[in-house]
Amino acid sequence: MHPLSSDVTEQAPQGRVRLQDKAVINGRADVNQLVPFKYAWAWDKYLASCANHWMPQEIQMGRDIALWNDPRGLSDDERLLVKRNLGFFTTADSLAANNIVLGTYRHITAPECRQYLLRQAFEEAIHTHAYQYIVESLGLDEGEIFNAYREVPSIRAKDEFLMPFILTLTEPSFRTGSHASDRQLLKSLVVFACLMEGLFFYVGFVQILALGRQNKMIGAAEQYQFILRDESMHCNFGIDLINTIKHENPHLWDASLVRELTELFHQAVELESGYAEDTMPRGVLGLNASMFKQYLRFIANRRAEQIGVPALFPQAFNPFPWMSEMLDLRKDVASFERRNTEYQSGGALQWRD
Ligand code: FE
Repeated sequence: MHPLSSDVTEQAPQGRVRLQDKAVINGRADVNQLVPFKYAWAWDKYLASCANHWMPQEIQMGRDIALWNDPRGLSDDERLLVKRNLGFFTTADSLAANNIVLGTYRHITAPECRQYLLRQAFEEAIHTHAYQYIVESLGLDEGEIFNAYREVPSIRAKDEFLMPFILTLTEPSFRTGSHASDRQLLKSLVVFACLMEGLFFYVGFVQILALGRQNKMIGAAEQYQFILRDESMHCNFGIDLINTIKHENPHLWDASLVRELTELFHQAVELESGYAEDTMPRGVLGLNASMFKQYLRFIANRRAEQIGVPALFPQAFNPFPWMSEMLDLRKDVASFERRNTEYQSGGALQWRD
């Protein structure tokens, strides 16, 4: 095997690890040796994520169940929104987990980053668990919800957009180490961090958190608040990963790649706008699809700027300023329902969202 390709796990260690041999992709150092640290930002995120540990079944779902079973508890539009929302998320985090475990992980040669990815993969499992727990608690039709990614066109369209980028990394014969494959990896990482975790999740988060703000589905909203906190970290880790690969491999980042990424950002905003319309055909909760289109443009600008791509929608603004408060759980969790377990154990949390 070429020493500068993926799967360097198979390499025999040669002497002591030197910092200059560590690299995020195509590194020469033994990937089994975490220390000496080179990528403190990745290790710090691993520690912060562990400090945020939570489990779905710790959150009370009783009031959600009573509301869902009350024929006058929710409008038909609100029920459609909850079902379409779960229809996307029940499979989205499995896609994310498989992308990490079967794809990204083996191409990343910095052990600090691998350590974070191991934690991230477990968090994706917790999220899938949380959505399953909500579906089960409410007694929803599991066949309908879990097959939505096959059967609801706006959900299917999002997943079909993502699939080629995930399949690139999970394809067993894919190897980094050439200009073309390193560039392909970088593009897939941008799609995964900025467009999947960083954009496709956000209509869904706003919807359920907006229900919670109206004192509806407060258990589900609290689950989503924990998931949002985790996903914000995933997105920020992905952006740091991308920017470090750029820094270490400046030749990969050329004008044609930026043009391709810009086009992908536009496609993703269109797809997510279509999903917003499909989940809220008549507007619901004082929210409507045009507000979401504005919000998506605002988020897309932010993600683009974070990786050094020029903002795509210069006029965009944030119609949901309350979303940034949702990231600060310690301050805001009382808006739903205080749970009795507090995992946060002193890890310094920093949000850049
Ligand atoms: Fe994630």
